[in-house]
Amino acid sequence: MGRYLGPKCRICRRIGTKLFLKGPRCYTDKCALSRRPYAPGQHGRIRTKLSNYGLQLREKQKVKRMYGVLERQFRRYFRIAQRKKGVTGTVLLQLLERRLDNVVYQAGFATSRAQARQMVRHNWVYVNGKRVNIPSYLVREGDEISFKNDEKVKQHLKDYKQLNKKRPVPLWLMVDEDKNTVKIVRLPEREDMPADIKEQMIVELYSK
Ligand code: SF4
Repeated sequence: MGRYLGPKCRICRRIGTKLFLKGPRCYTDKCALSRRPYAPGQHGRIRTKLSNYGLQLREKQKVKRMYGVLERQFRRYFRIAQRKKGVTGTVLLQLLERRLDNVVYQAGFATSRAQARQMVRHNWVYVNGKRVNIPSYLVREGDEISFKNDEKVKQHLKDYKQLNKKRPVPLWLMVDEDKNTVKIVRLPEREDMPADIKEQMIVELYSK
């Protein structure tokens, strides 16, 4: 599957929210959105009032970019969420949170979701002892994530953990830093997911 390879900070500036796509840099004053808090391009400083549709579209783009998912796959998640029991918006976010690359990132073993994705693709990640190299793999309750038993990998994990020590690990994950494992204690609930996402707007957009 393809993915967006253009400038990451440009996405944050266009959407007007920090999406934390660049790891530790996002937490420093080097963050492009902190330095230039307006949209990119020649007319970026001109404020335009978005229509309701524009706001819904922007919310969808924000979530898509945040999790590093392309349109087709995002729509697929939406269709699955619609078929499942529960509030569609919450189920949609739950599916995104359960992605293997997101779990590696949320557990603090990668500094960004893009880096976590690369770790999965490079065969560093194991689920219940079996190698899984699919970033979109959905974890289940009770699963245990571990990493390749290699000195180089161990050193990288230690470094990334150090860089992420200020980022709290969500309660649905239990991290063992000595063994480099992550246990899925339960499935994520709405309060475990980013509070600034207005998932209802995405549901309204796709239900038109
Ligand atoms: Fe977004 Fe991070 Fe770039 Fe800031 S540094 S604009 S949060 S990607």
